[in-house]
Amino acid sequence: PPLHIQRYQFVIDFVEKHKPKKVADLGCAGCGLLRKLKFCRDIELLAGVDIDCAAITEKKYTLAPLSCEYLKPDNRPLTIQLYQGSVIEKEPRMKGFELVTCIELIEHLHPEEVEKFSEVLFGYMSPGAVIVSTPNADFNPLLPGLTGFRHQDHKFEWTQKEFQNWALAVCDLYGYKVEFTGVGITPRNTKNVGFCTQIGVFNRKSSRRNGLQRTETDEGSHSYKLLYDVVY
Ligand code: SAM
Repeated sequence: PPLHIQRYQFVIDFVEKHKPKKVADLGCAGCGLLRKLKFCRDIELLAGVDIDCAAITEKKYTLAPLSCEYLKPDNRPLTIQLYQGSVIEKEPRMKGFELVTCIELIEHLHPEEVEKFSEVLFGYMSPGAVIVSTPNADFNPLLPGLTGFRHQDHKFEWTQKEFQNWALAVCDLYGYKVEFTGVGITPRNTKNVGFCTQIGVFNRKSSRRNGLQRTETDEGSHSYKLLYDVVY
């Protein structure tokens, strides 16, 4: 299957295994991953965030309940919320998630924003688990005809070493542990190249439940704009 489907499937497999109830997808773009996650039966709150309002607005109705879902409602409550906002801004409604996914997001940030992003994600949102995927620059020589980055909006593409250095540093700072994996394998048996897409799976070490409640009270401090809110 295409690489983006393999990335989605990686997240779905994680969700089926660990059964988080509250999942947020940062950089959700056209909501492709959310459309799949909505069928994971244990999820009760699904949130998507993107800085690009148009990308969300164009596709948000694809997350509306299908007519059969109205006719034969599920027993579980499912709320889906889509926000316009930047992942380098703190937003109280982004606290309390068990899993946060960042699929092909980080390489779209300016290098000087990465530190702020790490602080907001691991320090402030502080979810139980985080999945980060990003292109593996070590793999690029194997991609035919590629000169420069894989996409014109990429601000950087990390080697495995660079990704691991960032990941281990945030683990140290914010109390997480990380495992490295990926999707997309080489056709040839090329040593040390790694996966086409590299993935870090982070787990918070302490179960300290700081920030685990969404603070709905402090209305004034909202920095994200709610674009869509549906309850199944
Ligand atoms: N996650 C999507 C998927 O797997 O289908 C694709 C993500 S797309 C390659 C990168 C997305 O990150 C874009 O939709 C872009 O608007 C979003 N983005 C870039 N900078 C952002 C920021 N500071 N805050 C939130 N979203 C951002």
